[in-house]
Amino acid sequence: MATKFPDESDATGDNLSECEKVTEDSCKIVEEMADVPDALAEIRVHDLLAVDCEGVNLGRSGELTVLTIAIPNKTFIFDVLKLGKHVFDDGLRDVLEDKNTEKLMFDCRRDADSLYHQFQVNISGVLDLQLLEVMHRRKPGTSLVKSASGSRRSTRTDDVESIYGFLRCMELYLSDKEIIKKKKQGQDLLECDKDIWKTRPLTDLLKTYCCIDTTELFSLYEKLKADDDSLSRLRIASSRYADCLRSMSVRTNGIYENHAYLPLDIIPDEGSTSFPFASTKCVGCHRLFPRDEFSKTQLKNGEQKCRVCKKVKLKADVQNNREADWMRDDCTPELYYSSDENRWADPYHDYEDLYHDYEDVYDYGYEDIYHDDDW
Ligand SMILES: [Zn+2]
Repeated sequence: MATKFPDESDATGDNLSECEKVTEDSCKIVEEMADVPDALAEIRVHDLLAVDCEGVNLGRSGELTVLTIAIPNKTFIFDVLKLGKHVFDDGLRDVLEDKNTEKLMFDCRRDADSLYHQFQVNISGVLDLQLLEVMHRRKPGTSLVKSASGSRRSTRTDDVESIYGFLRCMELYLSDKEIIKKKKQGQDLLECDKDIWKTRPLTDLLKTYCCIDTTELFSLYEKLKADDDSLSRLRIASSRYADCLRSMSVRTNGIYENHAYLPLDIIPDEGSTSFPFASTKCVGCHRLFPRDEFSKTQLKNGEQKCRVCKKVKLKADVQNNREADWMRDDCTPELYYSSDENRWADPYHDYEDLYHDYEDVYDYGYEDIYHDDDW
């Protein structure tokens, strides 16, 4: 898509030449209710959209102020702050909830949480490219081999995977340096002003940012192209991802929600479309897992954390210890104290051992239900 980008030296976009401004042809700002039907009519003829939300502290307790929907040759920026929640009642909710209209998104979790709890919009038909990128990065066959190994889940620490941000994915898979530069420029601006998505009028730089965050999803999707099996697993994974925060009765916004690891049991293994029965709640992320996700010791103490939450806690402990200057050496400690594990450990060489401490011989069946409230 031929989006026009404002000059990078101009943060407001006010001094741009006409040719550099975001054009009406490629980018339509929808800020009057009267413009909504025409915009939706153009959107509805497409069965693949790109969607992104912006706001202040995006999530159920924050404010969603902008919703962008792109079709292959045009971007529609719905100014939710101006339009108010009625815009969703006027057809936008139907588009977002329509399972048959698929939506490319990138990390849909906070968008889904915002849309549901602020506007009662249950976004569906998501294809989350943050997940597709993880699937692309995996070596073929690895997840299946791990599952078939029969090892206790709590010991399969190498199943914890990192997730990348959109900028990193653009750098890895897309080659347009100018667009990447604009994305970085926009991110820098957002870092400086957390309330920027509430300022009006939206500057050309912000409009450009909205265009990049949606239209580039088409490019990334093309690049990471899923085969039929991957696509069906991606649909399931994206649906679970959208539910991750949305379905929580209470958001904590703590370390177990804000980290760069893929939550467990989001992407089905190759050749599978389901997950093992889950009934035991992790006290970190509050998600349910099979009982053998946790060690006997953890369960006994009521401190059961999934592998992702253990890793998050481990990192936080290392960081806290460093900040408290508990380290013996400057920045390369030999030992640190893990409050979670109640033991001293070597963060660089002893990491695997930390998990092996939890190995036990008890084989919990999935029917061995641990009584927790559903989330
Ligand atoms: Zn957890």
